Amino acid sequence: MSTTLYSGGLLFDGEGDLQENYAVLVEGDSIIDVAPVEKYADYKGKRVDTTDATLMPGIADCHVHLVYKGEANPQASVDGANPGEITLRVLENAQTSLKSGITAVRDCGGRDYLEFPVRDACNSGRFLGPSIMASGKIICMTGGHGNKNGRVADGCNEVVKAVREQVHAGSDLIKIMATGGVMTPGVNPEDAHYSADEMAAGVHEAKRFHKSSASHAQGAEGIMNAVNAGITSIEHGIFMDQQCLDAMLERGTYLVPTLAAVKNIIMNKDNGIPDYVVEKSLRVFDRHQESFTMFYKAGGKIAMGTDAGTPFNLHGKNALELAYMVECGMSPLDSLRSATSVGHACMQYEDRGQIKKALKPIY
Ligand SMILES: [Zn+2]
Repeated sequence: MSTTLYSGGLLFDGEGDLQENYAVLVEGDSIIDVAPVEKYADYKGKRVDTTDATLMPGIADCHVHLVYKGEANPQASVDGANPGEITLRVLENAQTSLKSGITAVRDCGGRDYLEFPVRDACNSGRFLGPSIMASGKIICMTGGHGNKNGRVADGCNEVVKAVREQVHAGSDLIKIMATGGVMTPGVNPEDAHYSADEMAAGVHEAKRFHKSSASHAQGAEGIMNAVNAGITSIEHGIFMDQQCLDAMLERGTYLVPTLAAVKNIIMNKDNGIPDYVVEKSLRVFDRHQESFTMFYKAGGKIAMGTDAGTPFNLHGKNALELAYMVECGMSPLDSLRSATSVGHACMQYEDRGQIKKALKPIY
């Protein structure tokens, strides 16, 4: 199999500092060497000159919704829409993401499993797209956040059944709602939704199927319920307190901040977004940023995620989240780590997100 040598520019391997004068040798879809460029001075095979550029792993976005396009009212955009049309939107959003350098996305809540065939088509190479992991339906309580599209389940037994249904339908991870949120009318982001027992039952069942789990968790009590249940990642984490922080550090729980979600709503508050969404976003904005900064300074694991698909939070603009994280105190290099090695680790893509020997290239 022929090889290709990438050299000339800077190298960011997903973990370390920027490196100069390094060459990366790729064979097929595997990285077979990363070495000082002198080693390949006499290399005669195909070369790609990366001068004036930085070679880096592809970006992983750990929180997107491919069924939504970032409409002012995303829920209304899918209500009553033809399933074929929704499926095409999923493909379009996935391909738009890939064109902007997002090579892996974790879909944290879809619509009637319409995103699954697109996931399979992209993952198999049938259509061009990023690598996609998808949760299927979010699992939420009666009257809880996400109840319009989610699998509503109450009590431990029903939550366990809901997890099994998602696995049966083909989910890669389980998304379970620990608190209220911004996008559902009549619920408060601060309030815990599932009880500690229900969360524990759901996460335990996910683990029995060797699935990771993500919890929409904004209020502190809900964050604690999810972390104590053994959740893989806390999504949003808006009202995190010291107890939450300590528990997440101890258990190695990822935070997927989605700063872009709240920020884009506030920046477009006069553009047709429902009033209740704008009001709640304004209420949580400062605290969201403070929690991010607190978690970052404490050395917590932050996996980049945008919530792309929420109002004016566009697929293809995912990388803006890196700038938003830097605005909240993260170093630029750490934002790149968050979007590459850490993000892929959160998605349990162990062989990706780094440019190292025997790892797959680019993504
Ligand atoms: Zn979301």
